[in-house]
Amino acid sequence: MQSRVVIVGGGTAGWMTASYLRATFGDRISVTLVESSGVATIGVGEATFSTIRHFFEYLGLDEREWMPECHATYKLGIRFENWRRPGHHFYHPFERLRVVDGFPLSEWWLHQRPSERFDQDVFVIASLCDAMRSPRHQSGRLFEQDFVENGDQPVYRTTLAEQDTQFPYAYHFDASLLAGFLAKYAKQRGAVHVVDDVVDVVLDERGWISHIVTRDFGEIEGDLFVDCTGFRGLLINQALAEPFVSYQDTLPNDRAVALRVPVDMAKTGIRPCTTASAMDAGWIWTIPLYGRIGTGYVYAGDYCTPEEAESTLRKFVGPAADELEANHIRMRIGRSRRSWVHNCVAVGLSSGFVEPLESTGIFFIQHAIEQLVKHFPAESWDERQRDSYNQRMARCMDGVREFLVLHYRGAARADNAYWRDAKTRTLPDGLAERLEQWQTRLPDTESIFPYFHGFEPYSYTSMLLGLGGIPLRPPPALGLLDGTAAAKEFQAIGDQARDLVNRLPSQYSYFAHLHDLP
Ligand code: FAD
Repeated sequence: MQSRVVIVGGGTAGWMTASYLRATFGDRISVTLVESSGVATIGVGEATFSTIRHFFEYLGLDEREWMPECHATYKLGIRFENWRRPGHHFYHPFERLRVVDGFPLSEWWLHQRPSERFDQDVFVIASLCDAMRSPRHQSGRLFEQDFVENGDQPVYRTTLAEQDTQFPYAYHFDASLLAGFLAKYAKQRGAVHVVDDVVDVVLDERGWISHIVTRDFGEIEGDLFVDCTGFRGLLINQALAEPFVSYQDTLPNDRAVALRVPVDMAKTGIRPCTTASAMDAGWIWTIPLYGRIGTGYVYAGDYCTPEEAESTLRKFVGPAADELEANHIRMRIGRSRRSWVHNCVAVGLSSGFVEPLESTGIFFIQHAIEQLVKHFPAESWDERQRDSYNQRMARCMDGVREFLVLHYRGAARADNAYWRDAKTRTLPDGLAERLEQWQTRLPDTESIFPYFHGFEPYSYTSMLLGLGGIPLRPPPALGLLDGTAAAKEFQAIGDQARDLVNRLPSQYSYFAHLHDLP
């Protein structure tokens, strides 16, 4: 039996893995998590995908329980600022496109152009973000009348692959508070926590990990080792020498500088979205939590020095940044060639990372853990199981890379060397051909990256229409069809959005109320 699991690393990846494995297998496996008190976690990673909901549901955790403890807020999508031109913004929301007479509303939009704001014309959520609304009424009821919630009974134990609806929001949360919350959860369910440095990883004669050596607690043996040591890849890359496949030729941003900025939310309100503001050598994220903002400049070291980046970020934030300590981070962009080697599985940054645009780090962790459970080696090791796992993880990360490259290639902005170079840089295999296709038919399931990577055609469409750098034409057939139903749908979306903006509470008042509850 492969029943002793040893996790090295106590960041988001380590504790998500420990809690999920205990929630899944209970006492049928043992879980020991070793983390160093001297090596800090990355300390960022606070915006998520809408599918993260399945993770919390799987653990049986209610929003009203964990959100206040983790200073969490709702995220209805991403607001992109200045990617087309200064002062321009658009949203990539968690909302699928409606379909009218067999054509997605985005294609009808290209044909009819009801206004200059495609996002407001085709998505309700764009208006909710502009008006800083909560997706839930004060009673807790979700705004989406169509979305059928299962009464008061949460739907536990759904996984990513089973997602058949687009849930309208994700979360922002404080990464260290969440790690602490999950640590408590996992330990209450029997996970063993060892705070110590791993000083050696010992291999047996086959080259598999036989045990790790810690400074004070000595040797820890296990059957399956999970590497959650972040960019170091202590087990997978260092001990097992698995090569790293870099994405840097297609995605050049390799550094970040971050700040945690306390904010009086009663005055500023809380935007229900992450903001990604294009800058001279990358972009700045703004993640509103309850009581502070997480912000950081992601940039390419070839175009900007760390000092310039920090000063740009401080200027962007304003006086609230004075006296705050900046966290400079070097990012390893790409993935381990295989995430699972022998008896070691890398989860989190050790497995791979593609810069935080579109907030995919935690999504990769969730996908990895779910796949680990599906491929878990109960009786014996089977190379085919590992191959299947590795193929899925590699494809998922490669697909996300392609989606992110589209952001830079598709942005109309080309006002300096950084943004001009983005238009001529190498493209991942297949993307050039897809870009050609999308100019006459917007992305659909047939024409996007063909393997699961978390993004649907509507996401690609949102980006192409918002970024504005690639010429797009409506299908000529629309000129031969009656457009009345589509025009009515645009009208209905506008009416629905105005009504919701009037009735929903602001995100600030929703959470102020929740935090005030006894
Ligand atoms: P880490 O947080 O680096 O944790 C590593 C752990 O390993 C630590 O506990 C450390 O003590 C331990 N360790 C290391 N060496 C040893 C040793 N020798 N012995 C014992 N323990 C050891 N993801 C998102 O989903 N959304 C975002 O908005 C987002 N933004 C990001 C912004 C930036 C700039 C970066 C770099 C990443 C971002 N991510 C984001 C990714 C996200 O931060 C990570 O996926 C997530 O935090 C998981 O990190 P980790 O647990 O793999 O590694």
